[in-house]
Amino acid sequence: MQHPITPETRLATPASRLMHAMFRRRDPVGWADYHCVEDADGTFWVHTHGLRRRHLPDMEIAGVPHDMRGHAHQVLFGIAAHARTERPLSAHGELEGVFSAPSQNFRQAVTLYRAPHEDAAHGALLRIVDRDQPMESGFPRRLFASHLAAWAELQPDPARREAMCRRSLALFPGFFLEMNAGAGLRPDDPDLTDLQFRANLSACITLAGALFDQGRAREGFGYLEQAVARCPAWGRIHRDHILRHYRGEDRYYYFWREADITEICLRLRPANSMGMAPALAGTAGPDARRA
Ligand SMILES: [Zn+2]
Repeated sequence: MQHPITPETRLATPASRLMHAMFRRRDPVGWADYHCVEDADGTFWVHTHGLRRRHLPDMEIAGVPHDMRGHAHQVLFGIAAHARTERPLSAHGELEGVFSAPSQNFRQAVTLYRAPHEDAAHGALLRIVDRDQPMESGFPRRLFASHLAAWAELQPDPARREAMCRRSLALFPGFFLEMNAGAGLRPDDPDLTDLQFRANLSACITLAGALFDQGRAREGFGYLEQAVARCPAWGRIHRDHILRHYRGEDRYYYFWREADITEICLRLRPANSMGMAPALAGTAGPDARRA
């Protein structure tokens, strides 16, 4: 699809790109021309031209909502930087890595397809969609939900952090996972990749913290309960870890001290989704504590 190139379409002017390429060589802004083109349905087609000079394929994200345009550029920067340092990306396939923030405790996963454009300028683009989704699935909601969750953690202002988490959950509320999902997590250094991809766990937890920081403890407890209901095995491991190692006497600690995970699941999980709760060695439940 051909499109006009205007100041609105381009992320950076040629002069700005040149400055980045000369003086900030590790910044992906200078690696390519980034185009953002409005489609007939009001969403945006964000794509690159010129990454091949960096031995990377040009890429696109389709169906980007108006408020996600800037984040789409950030996601493309992250994927390009990851592909450049971690693994050459030359053909379509799966890609997994840390694309959004170095501090995030999950990896993100996408599938890449050769995009169906006929024109010479866009004929070699690879389309980024959520992992295991078809090319026609369009906007990668889970990827952007995880991107917002990762960035929200770095946001010092709790009101902005709350807004980012709520947008993340609106894009992808997450599923209620099977009762033993995440049962093998290491409590001191958990890899939340699977729980984030399927349940958007990180957004619930960070949103709870943002609400606590604004004095809205009751709402915050509600989102911690949502996190537990989505990922009960994680809840059990995390509660055990908090009770053993957490040094604060704050609302976060009180929540976990009082949390009855079975009761939360019975109340919040959809019917017929309970199954058997995982038995975890060394986990002291509420009944054990009362004994
Ligand atoms: Zn273009």
